[in-house]
Amino acid sequence: MKMNTRIISHEFDYHAPDTIREVLEMLDQHGSDAKIIAGGTDLITQMKMGKRTPSHVVDIRKLKDLRYYVEGAVIKIGAGNNFRSVMEHFANNVPCRGLYEAIYSIGKTQVLNMGTIGGNLSNGSPKADTAPPLLTYNARVKLLSLKSERLIDLKDLHVGYNKTVMEENEIMTEIQFDALPKNTAGAFEKKARVGSDISKITCAVTVTRDNDVCRNCNIALGAAAPVPMRAPVAESIMKGRPFSDQLLEDTALQVGREINPPAYGRTSVEYRREMVAVMFKDGFKRAWEQAGGDK
Ligand SMILES: Cc1cc2nc3c(=O)[nH]c(=O)nc-3n(C[C@H](O)[C@H](O)[C@H](O)COP(=O)(O)OP(=O)(O)OC[C@H]3O[C@@H](n4cnc5c(N)ncnc54)[C@H](O)[C@@H]3O)c2cc1C
Repeated sequence: MKMNTRIISHEFDYHAPDTIREVLEMLDQHGSDAKIIAGGTDLITQMKMGKRTPSHVVDIRKLKDLRYYVEGAVIKIGAGNNFRSVMEHFANNVPCRGLYEAIYSIGKTQVLNMGTIGGNLSNGSPKADTAPPLLTYNARVKLLSLKSERLIDLKDLHVGYNKTVMEENEIMTEIQFDALPKNTAGAFEKKARVGSDISKITCAVTVTRDNDVCRNCNIALGAAAPVPMRAPVAESIMKGRPFSDQLLEDTALQVGREINPPAYGRTSVEYRREMVAVMFKDGFKRAWEQAGGDK
C-alpha cells in the first residue's frame, strides 16, 4: 500500500506563472508531465504517497484572475477562491446554505485557508464536499485551454472514481449557476469518523417551497457512488406535492435505495443506505423551514 511518507521522493520543476495564459502554455508544453497546484492540500499528499509524480508543478495560487465573485442572474465563483473565502461569501445566503454548510464542515483552519473550490472539484473525488450542494444548483464549470473554452455541467465533470473529463492542458477557471428562485433554501449533512474529517457519506438538499407545496427538492450525495450524484427518482417523489411526513419517509427510503456505494472501504453499504435516509430527512426539514420565510 502507498503510504503518506511526509517526503516527496521525486524531483520536479516548480513554476509560478503570472498569468492564466502562461499557465496554459506550460500545460500545453509539458502535457501529462505537468500538474497544476492550487492549495496543494490534495496534490502534495498524492505526491508524498507516490500516486502522482509530475515533473512540472504549475502554481496558480497567486493568480488574482481566478479569485472573484459575480452576483446576478448567474452566480459566478472564481475557481481559485479558497474555502474560507467561499464560506464567508455565502455565509448569509439562505438559498446557497448547502454550499456554506459543506465548507463549514471541513473545519480545519489550514485546509480552509489553503484548499480551493476549483481544486476540490478538479481532484475528482466522490467525497469532495462542495460537489453535492453545487450539483443541487445545476452548476456548470468553465474549462479553458490554449485552444478552447468550454462550459460543462458539473454533473458531467466526474466520470469515475478520482476521474474527470478534464484534459491535461485544461484549467478550471470558474464555477457558475443560475440564481436560485425565491423561497429556496438548502442544507448539507455529513457523516465522518470524527468532526471535520473526510466524509463517509454526505447529503445536500435544496428545496423550493410554495406554501405547503414542495415545488422542487434537489438532492445530491457524496461518497455514495464512484462520482458525486443526484437522486432523480427520490426528487420526483417530492416534486410538486404538498408536504407530509409520509412523503418525507417515502423520499428518504428512495434516497437510500438510489445510492451506489462501493462494497469496500471503511463504511459498509448498509450503513450508508440507512444513514443517508436519516441525513436526508434532517437536511430537508432544516431547508424546508428556512424556505418558508419571507425572502
Ligand atoms: C487534512 C485535510 C483535510 C481535508 N478535509 C476535506 C474535507 O473535509 N472535505 C473535502 O472535500 N476535502 C477535504 N480535503 C481535501 C482537499 O483539501 C480539497 O479537495 C481541496 O479543495 C483541494 O483543493 P486544493 O486547492 O488544495 O487542490 P490541489 O491539491 O492544489 O489540487 C488538487 C487537484 O486538482 C487540480 N487542480 C487544482 N486546481 C485546479 C484548477 N483550477 N484547474 C485544473 N486543475 C486544478 C490539481 O492539478 C490536482 O490534480 C482535506 C485535505 C486535507 C489535507
